Amino acid sequence: MNTISANDFLPVEELRRLQLEKLQRIVAYEYERVALFRRRCDERGVKPRDIVTLKDIAKLPFMIKTDLRDEYPLGLTAAPMEEIVRFHCSSGTTGKPICIPNTAGDVEVWAEATARCLLMFGLSAKDILQVTYGYGLFTGGLGLHYGGEKLGCAVLPIGGGNTDKQLMLMQDLGVTAIACTPSYFLRIMDVAREKGIDFRRDTKLRHGIFGAEPWTDEMRAKIETTTGIVAHDIYGLTEVSGPGVAGSCPYCERETPGLHIWEDHYYPEIIDPDTLEPLPDGEAGELVFTTLDRFGTPMVRYRTRDLTRLHVERCKCGRTARVMDRIHARSDDMLIIHGVNVFPSQVETALLSVPEVEPHYQIIITPTDTLDLLEIKVEIRSESFSDDIRALETLRKRVFNAVKAIIGVSPRITLVEPGSLPRSEGKIKRVIDNRRK
Ligand code: ADP
Ligand code: ZN
Repeated sequence: MNTISANDFLPVEELRRLQLEKLQRIVAYEYERVALFRRRCDERGVKPRDIVTLKDIAKLPFMIKTDLRDEYPLGLTAAPMEEIVRFHCSSGTTGKPICIPNTAGDVEVWAEATARCLLMFGLSAKDILQVTYGYGLFTGGLGLHYGGEKLGCAVLPIGGGNTDKQLMLMQDLGVTAIACTPSYFLRIMDVAREKGIDFRRDTKLRHGIFGAEPWTDEMRAKIETTTGIVAHDIYGLTEVSGPGVAGSCPYCERETPGLHIWEDHYYPEIIDPDTLEPLPDGEAGELVFTTLDRFGTPMVRYRTRDLTRLHVERCKCGRTARVMDRIHARSDDMLIIHGVNVFPSQVETALLSVPEVEPHYQIIITPTDTLDLLEIKVEIRSESFSDDIRALETLRKRVFNAVKAIIGVSPRITLVEPGSLPRSEGKIKRVIDNRRK
């Protein structure tokens, strides 16, 4: 066994003991050093010594994204600047970003977690890993970079964009694995098709390491059948480190689609987002993390807004780290249309069930005097575009029925030509909600 993955197989009792020890340590550390956390604990009348079992975590206050914004830039920093080696920031689109200072130890733990994912995906030191995630403040690039190096892969730190060059280097170097947002990989697939590059024939690519945004099982199937690669799911967020917090194994990838959470570092809870009460394994709710090994910016009970559930059953691979469902949505992705809750991932699932449909779509919601209008623009294969209006109308109706059956709301479906919708080089924005100012 590779030493990187030693903790993957810890007996459950040992894992829980380790988690409790680390929880007590991080709560005491944060209480001593972070004023906001100490104040909130004091308000609830809870002290670090009250954490006697793992269940006692429920006594502690939550942390949410606005806390990170309010405390920007360094209000939640627990380590002195001489111990900080790197900053990451996220989501600067609305107002202040959040800023996460990391110590050398934090960076090391994160690299290990990411390397464990890569190892679980089947990569080894023999692989050449092309990292197309953005480098810089975003955690994607450097996260996969250090994880890949830790495993001994040959990392190609190309970052996002310049798709022609991505394909050229992929072919010339014999790249075997690519780390990418699924939406950027669709763009790479487009350009490969234009250039007549067949992934099976003309490249050595075997693994796609996809994350940073939701993508459905149907999207995975589309990518795998078109290219012949195996598509793996990697999950993470800046607030608790970056990509590598969780990843899929060969079993939970296929049979019960999910991801192992490296819970010796990132302690997961599922809560009811309305009552904030912890939910038992098996029940769906909001994912909450406590970082057990992070000292630059520790997070106790950080509410991710990601919706999932922890599996009750142990995974067949033997790893004791719990498995969560794939993340199909954040709570704030939910659209309320005609009083019905709709998640964009449901629309993706419905669209991709129609074989003529390409995996490129846009969801546009526009307020009207009566009901809000839900329009879905979707690209269809060039072969399916014909002058035969009746054939197009039949296809449109099939797409309509597929979507209506899953979301329960009647959309306006607009079929568009291949290549006409925007592409992304990072995280894609597929929803345009004109009701939001
Ligand atoms: P930002 O908040 O700026 O988007 P992050 O990269 O920290 O920056 O985003 C993390 C979020 O991205 C997660 O909370 C989750 O919503 C989403 N995400 C990351 N990986 C996955 C994945 N594999 N599947 C679904 N969603 C993901
Ligand atoms: Zn497994």
